[in-house]
Amino acid sequence: PRLLGDALDRTLAETMAGVARRTSAGRVADYIPELAGADPDAFGVTLASVLGRTYGAGDASTEFTIQSVSKPFVYAFACDELGADVVHRHVGVEPSGEPFNAISLDGRGRPENPFINAGAIVTTSLVPAPDAGERFARIRDALSRFAGRELDVDEDVHRSEATTGHRNRALAGLALAAGTLGTDDVDAATDPYFRQCSLRVTTRDLALMAATLANHGVHPLTRERVVGERTARDTLSVMATCGMYDRSGAWAFRVGLPAKSGVGGGIVAVRPGDFGIGVFAPPLDEAGNSVRGVAMLEDLSATFGLHMFDHA
Ligand code: GLN
Repeated sequence: PRLLGDALDRTLAETMAGVARRTSAGRVADYIPELAGADPDAFGVTLASVLGRTYGAGDASTEFTIQSVSKPFVYAFACDELGADVVHRHVGVEPSGEPFNAISLDGRGRPENPFINAGAIVTTSLVPAPDAGERFARIRDALSRFAGRELDVDEDVHRSEATTGHRNRALAGLALAAGTLGTDDVDAATDPYFRQCSLRVTTRDLALMAATLANHGVHPLTRERVVGERTARDTLSVMATCGMYDRSGAWAFRVGLPAKSGVGGGIVAVRPGDFGIGVFAPPLDEAGNSVRGVAMLEDLSATFGLHMFDHA
């Protein structure tokens, strides 16, 4: 069967209904009260084609915080600004096989990849700016261009992230000691990082952000070139190998699409050249990936042969 077509909204709704019947496992993130209060039954999906058509079902327009789904987009922005060579003096491209908050530095003092917290904080610290406020302003602007609309910070989530983020500050401190942090001030790295995690998005935003990568860096609706073609390719490469933390191998095997998850319950997945998908369902597995989000993408991949190594 072909995935794109007029019946796609219905197909998405039916796939969601099947997943909802089958799975209710997982636990909503509870390290801050704002996430602990998320509705465990919320479930939404949007697919955005590179031609700019969007298809959605369920809670497709519910806002939630982007969390770690921000990481590939900030990585893309940093690579575009500085060149990938410069970025990779500070952070590697190896799947760590470790949890998202692991203490991770390779033999050169670099976090293993830009999608675990240590590597994401380093990546954020590299964005050129005179101070933390300006750094976040530039990041917010870049992520808004990926989404095609202005994104805002959930101030309550940000406050909680900042007051509880001791481990993230410690990770930044280790990178600073190892000489790989982009600034000599830990807060100038972690403050913009906490804010970027607290940006509010919907599955439609995520689908369009993913579709911009699928479309080689050009937003399908605004037609703006957000990042270069090579940057889009580099970002998808890291998403294909490191996007789902210590489940990245199982994900590559079963779903076979570049992707990134976040503890807010969001996941983006990209079918290069074709479309982006955003899914949202708050309960998480032990790795911090949305249980229903993973199941949804597994089903779509299996039903429509979306795995990158499927025969077209
Ligand atoms: N704000 C979270 C943290 O830094 C994001 C982690 C995630 O989404 N996996 O711990």
